[in-house]
Amino acid sequence: MSNKFTENKAQAIMKAKCPRCRSGKMFSHKAYDLKNFTLMNKTCPVCGLEFEIEPGFFWGAMYVSYFVSVGIAILSAVALYFMFNDPDAWFYVATIIALIIILSPLSYRYSRVWMLYMFSPIKFDKKLSNQLQ
Ligand SMILES: [Zn+2]
Repeated sequence: MSNKFTENKAQAIMKAKCPRCRSGKMFSHKAYDLKNFTLMNKTCPVCGLEFEIEPGFFWGAMYVSYFVSVGIAILSAVALYFMFNDPDAWFYVATIIALIIILSPLSYRYSRVWMLYMFSPIKFDKKLSNQLQ
């Protein structure tokens, strides 16, 4: 993946790009690099934005990640109900726990990305983006 500038906000979120330039990556490793998936770039490699805009900013991401997990649980419960014709309770519990664990690198990342896009005053600045790369 290149550092290409992403104009579309939804795509920039999907690719975990810096909210200011939408060019630099927020994370230095891939989501399923399990030793390193929590490592975040301190600053944007393209525009230099400090991602943790204030100390403890990403504590709030824990709440976002909680709601993401609840969302995963509800959606998978509904899917299991219809796919397996209301299976036993243990099957719901086991499947949902497994899904939440499997998806945790993604929910960890996206809760931080969403935090920055939704709860910070940072605005997209086209001039800072790396359009030539
Ligand atoms: Zn940036």
